[in-house]
Formats: sequence, structure tokens, C-alpha cells
Amino acid sequence: MTVPVLRFAPSPNGRLHLGHAYSALINHDTARARGGRFLLRMEDIDTTRCTADLEAGVLEDLAWLGLDWEHPVRRQSEHFADYAPPLARLEAMGLVYRAYLTRREIRDAVARTEARTGRPWPRDPDGAPLYPGDSAVLTPDEIARRAADNAPHALRLDMTRALAKIAQPLDWIEEGGGTRDRIAAEPARWGDVVLARKEIPTSYHLSVVVDDAAQGITHVMRGRDLYAATAVHRLLQVLLDLPAPVYHHHALILDANGRKLSKSDGDTALAALRSDGWTPEDVRARVGL
Ligand code: GLU
Repeated sequence: MTVPVLRFAPSPNGRLHLGHAYSALINHDTARARGGRFLLRMEDIDTTRCTADLEAGVLEDLAWLGLDWEHPVRRQSEHFADYAPPLARLEAMGLVYRAYLTRREIRDAVARTEARTGRPWPRDPDGAPLYPGDSAVLTPDEIARRAADNAPHALRLDMTRALAKIAQPLDWIEEGGGTRDRIAAEPARWGDVVLARKEIPTSYHLSVVVDDAAQGITHVMRGRDLYAATAVHRLLQVLLDLPAPVYHHHALILDANGRKLSKSDGDTALAALRSDGWTPEDVRARVGL
């Protein structure tokens, strides 16, 4: 039997709340119960929003919960070079293009098209408009000018071409429902996803699959809000010949109004609960563990 390897992978761009506590605890507890390993990874590619202070806060919260994890902690910001070879590989397969449109240009183009057609522009499972393509907005001369100037651009995956490379049905093993189910992956719903951002040489999707493979993660346990993104992760894993972990998307912890918790509403932050006198056992009880 291979040893299960699990991870908790927060972005240190705010303090942890009860939802993070739940995710960290079930990863940790599952690893311990199955004689596996528990790793921690800082998903800090956004080096302006993720700070050393916030990371220190995350570590403090996790230690307070009673968790222990292996060292060293992997910080994505220390591994930017690791994302270049897989990106180059996708480029060599003809699957990557430079996308010059700014957020504003995308927004305006979508609004114009919606006004003209009276139909909503297609959106990804997170509600963001699919990338319209540079040529839908810019003249060929303007695209050539931006290319010649090496204007700021993201690198995007050409989803149609990427799917054409996939021979087998794309799916993943999901254990979040209490049974072991094979789920059909539908990455096309995401359109041409970003692989590298304007100022950052990677993206969430690229780094999560590269790191899950680099760290030998066998079981990805994470919130239900990332369920749909798993389709993109499976696509990248197949294109890059990376192993497929088993996935377990867990329920989200909701607030008293039934809404998903967010880092911006401080009242469920672990640090705030701690200063209100909560104990780690109170947290476990609140999240149903
Ligand atoms: N860093 C992501 C987040 O904080 C989680 C990524 C994952 O678990 O795959 O939402």
C-alpha cells in the first residue's frame, strides 16, 4: 500500500476562518488515521496580497488548532522556476497563447456583445466571463503592435486545442460523497484558462497541479468551491503526464445566514474566536468534527 499524502494549501492573503480550520483538520486527521503524511503548502503566488505577516498568522492559527505538519513548508513563491518547464511543454505542444486584453477590455467587450445580442456572455463556473480572444476586440494591427512592444500579457491555454489532444475520457475519482465515484470532467466550461498572469509567472491552476505532483499528493481534500476547477486540473495533469490524486471535495462551513465564509468578514477568523475564548475543541465541535 502506498502511504497517503495529504496537504492543506492555504493562500496567506488573510487570516484563516472556520472553513479553513475544517479543511486543515480533516486533512490532518485523515492523514493521521491512515498512517499517512500531512503537508502544508503556502499558495502565495500573489506576492503583493500574500505577506510574511499573514503567513505567520496562518502558522499560528494551525499550531493553535493542534496540527503538526512536515517541514519545510513549500512556498509557491520560492518555486516560480518550477512552473517554467511545464509551461514550456504546453507551449511546445502549441497550446499556449499570449492574451493581451486588460480586465477592462474584457469587461467592455462582454458588455457590448451582451447589449448587442441581448444574450448573456458565457461565464465560467466561478461566474467570470470566458475570454473573448484578442481578435474579437483588437484590430490585427493593434495585436501586432502590442506583440512588438511586448505589452503586458497573460498566457492562456487554448482550451479547444488542448481538448483535441486528449484521447481518453477525462474524469476523476471523487470520494467526497462518501462513496468512490468517477466524475466526468468538463474543462471546456472554463474556456481559455490563465496559465501565467501578467506579473506572475504561473497561475493557481498551473501551480496546484505541478505542486500536487511535486509533493506526491495522493489525496486532495478541499472545499466544494473547487469542485468544478478539478476538471481543469485533470486536463493539465493529462497534458503534462502528471499522476492523478484522488479528490474529496468537502462541504463548506456556512455562516448563520447560510452564506460561505470569507476572509473579509472577520468574525469567524480563528484569531478572533481565540481571543473570544474559544478553544480548539470548540472549533472542532462547531465544524462537526
Ligand atoms: N489555495 C487554495 C485556497 O486557499 C486551495 C487550493 C487547493 O486546495 O487546491 O482556496
